[in-house]
Amino acid sequence: MNIEKNIEQILEDIEKYSPNPSAVKLLAVTKYVDTDTIQKLFDCGIKNIGENKGQVIRDKAKYFAEKKIDDICWHFIGSLQSNKIKYISEYISLIHSVNKISLAREIDKKAKECGRIISILLEINISGEESKEGYSYENLLEDLPEYFELKNIEIKGLMTMAPLTDDENILRKVFAGLREKKDELNKKYFSYQSDGKILTELSMGMSNDYKIALEEGATIIRIGTKLFE
Ligand SMILES: *Cc1c(COP(=O)(O)O)cnc(C)c1O
Repeated sequence: MNIEKNIEQILEDIEKYSPNPSAVKLLAVTKYVDTDTIQKLFDCGIKNIGENKGQVIRDKAKYFAEKKIDDICWHFIGSLQSNKIKYISEYISLIHSVNKISLAREIDKKAKECGRIISILLEINISGEESKEGYSYENLLEDLPEYFELKNIEIKGLMTMAPLTDDENILRKVFAGLREKKDELNKKYFSYQSDGKILTELSMGMSNDYKIALEEGATIIRIGTKLFE
């Protein structure tokens, strides 16, 4: 495992494949590794760390808070249960996987209790695979007016999981599809909001497909396996 070299490679790829490299964040997904390895990532300059389990992220975040390392941005990327929001609400930087209005309501409530605005992404199931979580675009549109009522969350952008395939055409279609949805949502809905805030983030691309995601405009790539090989 040569973390430093792997990071360097991915940062080079961001420069090479993204049309707008300065807008891209490398999110290190650390669900496979312990706090010593997260420390190594941090020492290599990685500040954005992603986990997919409520209790695990709480314990890891606590470990670093006790070491007075307080400039890690923690991201939640998994399927989030309402009763686990309390483990992350006080410090989470971004929740990537909001795919139900009931979940958004609970996040909003917990954010209010902490006196915070919590940033979220809306998860869309672009590929339409039944096994995948995430909104269909139609269902998202139905819920959207209620999202605009929730004042303690801020919707920063969209997230998707691509299907498990090596077929570049399928992957590209999914990533381009998410970008098109973002543009459409901004044009038809977000630009009319009183705060004028539009969607800027596209969380898409993992170890096996991040280059294509970058070409299609990803602003957050979520990388686990490739960092630790
Ligand atoms: C595990 C995970 C990743 C990272 O996947 P790798 O293939 O290991 O890079 C990205 N996003 C989500 C939602 C994950 O659960």
